[in-house]
Amino acid sequence: MSDPQIEKLLIVQDRDTSLQKIEQELTRIPNERASIEKLIQQEEANVEEARHALKEKEVQRHELDVDVKAKEGSIQRFRTQQLEVKKNEEYRALTHQIEQLETEIGEMEEKEIELMLEIDETKKIFEAERAVIEARIEAQRREIVLLGEREENLKASIDDAKAALADSRTGVEANYLEQYDRVKNLTSRPPYVAPIENHVCGGCHLRVSNEVSKEAMSAGEPHFCDQCARIVYA
Ligand SMILES: [Zn+2]
Repeated sequence: MSDPQIEKLLIVQDRDTSLQKIEQELTRIPNERASIEKLIQQEEANVEEARHALKEKEVQRHELDVDVKAKEGSIQRFRTQQLEVKKNEEYRALTHQIEQLETEIGEMEEKEIELMLEIDETKKIFEAERAVIEARIEAQRREIVLLGEREENLKASIDDAKAALADSRTGVEANYLEQYDRVKNLTSRPPYVAPIENHVCGGCHLRVSNEVSKEAMSAGEPHFCDQCARIVYA
């Protein structure tokens, strides 16, 4: 590379790129943070849902218990009544009711045992899953803290990067700088100044004309790729 202006522009480009990286990362951080926070909310909702399901089963069990006790109370009442009735058929009717209640209680107790086993199993699974989820949430929260630190560091370095960029521009001739800014506005991403190697532009990777290839070697004024209009040098 024989053009000192191009050398200077390459430094400008380098600092432009650094600044852009900082700015791009700064715009990404809030989105990253939001998506991690959303994940945490989902995880917490899942834990809450599992806790709720477990609680429901415990409520069911309690209700069964209350029902069994009520039926046992009825049996007790019927037995007392049996001591007082005089007629045989009344006595038999009470016996029948007692037997029916006993059958119902038996069924309910079976259900209760099933439910207790289910609760134990669900509890085990819940505790194991909760531990995993909580560890994950903790890791996600740490990630958010790190993002915050990264954001602070980037914000702190952005002024330095801007100053370094401004500093690098001061020594560049106006027409080079003007063309550089023009290319930068037209091109979505660097490079804005690209080398030509084997007649190929390092920016668009297309073949340039022989004329451009040859011109790119001479200093004194900026030269441009005839495909993408980037500043080129050789
Ligand atoms: Zn090109």
